[in-house]
Amino acid sequence: MIPATVETIPFVDLKAAYHRLQSEIDAAVATVLESGWYILGAEGQVFEAAFARYLGLPHVVGVASGTDAVLLALRACGVGPGDEVITVSHTAVATVAAIELCGAIPRLVDVEPDTLTLAPQALEKAITGRTKAIIPVHLYGGPADLRPILTFAEEHGLMVIEDCAQAHGARYAGRLVGTLGDAAAFSFYPTKNLGAMGDGGAVATSRADVAERLRLLRQYGWRERYISEAAGFNSRLDELQAAILRVRLLHLDAENEARRRLAVAYDEQLSGLPLTLPVVRRGDHHVYHLYAIRTARREELRVHLRERGIGTAVHYPVPVHLQPAYARLGYRRGSLPVTEGAALSLLSLPMYPDLSPDAPAIVAKAITQFFNA
Ligand SMILES: *Cc1c(COP(=O)(O)O)cnc(C)c1O
Repeated sequence: MIPATVETIPFVDLKAAYHRLQSEIDAAVATVLESGWYILGAEGQVFEAAFARYLGLPHVVGVASGTDAVLLALRACGVGPGDEVITVSHTAVATVAAIELCGAIPRLVDVEPDTLTLAPQALEKAITGRTKAIIPVHLYGGPADLRPILTFAEEHGLMVIEDCAQAHGARYAGRLVGTLGDAAAFSFYPTKNLGAMGDGGAVATSRADVAERLRLLRQYGWRERYISEAAGFNSRLDELQAAILRVRLLHLDAENEARRRLAVAYDEQLSGLPLTLPVVRRGDHHVYHLYAIRTARREELRVHLRERGIGTAVHYPVPVHLQPAYARLGYRRGSLPVTEGAALSLLSLPMYPDLSPDAPAIVAKAITQFFNA
């Protein structure tokens, strides 16, 4: 048997992507190093313009991380202390942390049982007189059901900030996610579909007023150097990351297609097993940041796969509303049943553009053995 530490199919492999693009990335990095300009310069502007063009939006503002992108998008949309923001508990903790960082109160709602994204019918019960915004999360690369969410927001005068940290290039009913709300937050954490080699993030928006506020907020509230018009932050996308992202953006669609082909292979190979496979809403274009299956025997299966050299992960083992840091929000076990059930059963399988096309069959064979044993 293979020792548990030697993974023959690792859960992630970021070095493979670097090696595939090495000459382009090395050249981009060398250009920045030689330029002598490392923060908020030409590379950042070129990347912002390129990503804006990709999205078909007028404004992209680079920031230091995806968490900051959510925080600054909220701030730029006028959300602040005492306001309430509705989002899901079934997300990276960053979504909720960003709401609190801007002084607002997170109101966590449950997700749909199939797509595991924000359940629009939960909005009515969560809204109060203090609600200012909704943050739908496009989870695992699959879009949240935006149409009813946008309609609800419009009816109640709420902002919609899309959390696109896991969904660069995904489409909801044919439209790129990140283009439908008031603003959209992207993360360029290295494992994301569009990943830097360090931290990075961006806010995309069609609104000139929001973009202008973002540019102030990300650098001490400066329009003119050393004059703070607003109480701002230090949250800047550095030139090295921007240069790397400019290269990686050219490959985003091809890499998403590679992910989608792997997902088709997993779907085929795993059909018929007692598992719940990822659900894609009709008309959506899923970009498989993760390929997460569900089984009541998650822990046993995880061990079985580890023993066969296959890496897995759990996104997310403890929902935000049950995390020790968020107990003070007042939710209990049982508050969000779909979220809690998912947390007990989800298992993410290896999924990245450089994963071998043979891998899904190998993984599926190991999973089939597990269920037939
Ligand atoms: C990764 C992620 C973030 C935060 O991004 P960072 O760049 O790590 O700060 C926010 N929301 C979601 C859904 C994420 O997956």
